[in-house]
Amino acid sequence: MRGSRILAAAALAAIAGCRTLREPPGPPADLVLLGGTVHTMDPARPRAEALAVRGGLLAAVGSDDEIRLLAGPGTRVLDAAGLTVLPGLVDAHGHLESLGAGLRRIDLVGTASAEEVAAAVRERAAAAPPGGWILGRGWDQNDWAKKSFPTRHLLDAAAPDRPVWLVRIDGHAGWANGRALALAGIGPSTPDPAGGRILRDPATGEPAGVLVDAAMDLLAPLVPRPTRAERKDALRRGAEACVAAGLTSVHDAGVDAEGVDLCRELADEGALPLRVYAMLADSPDLIRGTTFREGPVVGYGGRRLTVRAVKAYADGALGSRGAALLEDYADDPGNRGLLQAEPAALEALAGRCLAVGWQLCVHAIGDRGNRVVLDAFEAALRRAPRADHRFRVEHAQVLSLEDIPRFARLGVLPSMQPTHATSDMPWAGDRLGPARLAGAYAWRKILDAGSAIPCGSDFPVESHDPLKGIHAAVTRQDAGGRPEGGWLPGERMTREEALRGFTVDACRAAFEEGWKGTLAPGMAADLTVLDRDVLACPATEILEARVVWTVVAGEVVYPSR
Ligand SMILES: [Zn+2]
Repeated sequence: MRGSRILAAAALAAIAGCRTLREPPGPPADLVLLGGTVHTMDPARPRAEALAVRGGLLAAVGSDDEIRLLAGPGTRVLDAAGLTVLPGLVDAHGHLESLGAGLRRIDLVGTASAEEVAAAVRERAAAAPPGGWILGRGWDQNDWAKKSFPTRHLLDAAAPDRPVWLVRIDGHAGWANGRALALAGIGPSTPDPAGGRILRDPATGEPAGVLVDAAMDLLAPLVPRPTRAERKDALRRGAEACVAAGLTSVHDAGVDAEGVDLCRELADEGALPLRVYAMLADSPDLIRGTTFREGPVVGYGGRRLTVRAVKAYADGALGSRGAALLEDYADDPGNRGLLQAEPAALEALAGRCLAVGWQLCVHAIGDRGNRVVLDAFEAALRRAPRADHRFRVEHAQVLSLEDIPRFARLGVLPSMQPTHATSDMPWAGDRLGPARLAGAYAWRKILDAGSAIPCGSDFPVESHDPLKGIHAAVTRQDAGGRPEGGWLPGERMTREEALRGFTVDACRAAFEEGWKGTLAPGMAADLTVLDRDVLACPATEILEARVVWTVVAGEVVYPSR
């Protein structure tokens, strides 16, 4: 009896299906978005107007008429008229905890007077729980009308009961209040340490508040390391800042075991608004640690957290001449920078990673740093061939021209940060000289040699705003439009290439292109919705684009309710 009723219902459904052929099956969508300019990045259907989400996945992508049919009474409708919808933007190289921790420090860059700094300290002291340190960074007395170093008295008045420590913009001086000086035991009789100076009141000899260079070490170690709770809070704040900027996923380039635990807790609590692809930070005991030995964690917490990569370092940075070059620095004869790792150690690490199933991502900036990494990858892969290893070089900033084709040949992904080029352009030529600039930030040559470029920002070193990255990628200009015509403009990316770099190619760098990075049925409903079409608007307007909604797994995570 029951069986026949079911049969009847099925038969009815079949007849109904014949009548309304276009009506897709299944329950109503959780969310539909209508009337937008949807760039799907899906070659099968590059443009659409609308999409429907069910269970965190895209149920359909199509025209308004097609998608409207999927809405029921409980469906949330987003009216995207005049808006542009992109696959959720991904930053392939950032540092969430540092971003969030930076938000906890007072940003003093651009302050116009010592009084303005003191006012910011007073405000922070009133808002923060009592007792803790007030930390800040970025003041520069050269920007002020009164260009002498400030004294502790202003800070004593602003926050008498708790230590205050404000680092100068260049990191070479710090400004403390009396409470901090007392905690450090710095008094009139404290001698200046070698390589440092304690600025003093000329009348009394009392420390005046500013500590220069090595004298900073008398105080800085007292600044407490963040507690577990503070670290977790920093991660959460960093993630929230990212979704506000339109990011739906971040590759976190160097997380320790506790950081992994904290991400997992945030995911469990529903407090991780975006997806994190974590790279485990290399350390002397990495290989022995359980996190490494147990192998990758993929798709934890509804695909909120994946820990599948290891981050190591081959060299330093170009600005401080720590990047390892094949020839001398053009502006420092005799200096070729420094390797941070022995080539053999990198090869061994690559081998270990292959054996346990980890992806290896190695920071390399200089042409020697990059060659050493490519050599290490190549040797490890020769020993243990793996078709789909997706080893990555993080930054890949300065390449010998002969090494560029090796990325595509070896299947190594150059994970690059477009805004590094526009930040470094004022002095990169000084460090490298004209000939080596041919292989510097050489996106066009890399793309033409057949390699995709996953894009990121290295936040908080650069802004975490992906639109700044897309702008830099397509213009090779800074936010002020300098230089005219772009720096080494032959290396520009097209709009599509830049967008691929921040979507599907960034997903590929995390083995995730099979379920996100394009907008097609069955893919994750991760969306970045902007108030203008960054593929079509004038390039200068890319920087003015506003994030209207950030959607992760079909949920609007920005703005939050
Ligand atoms: Zn980094």
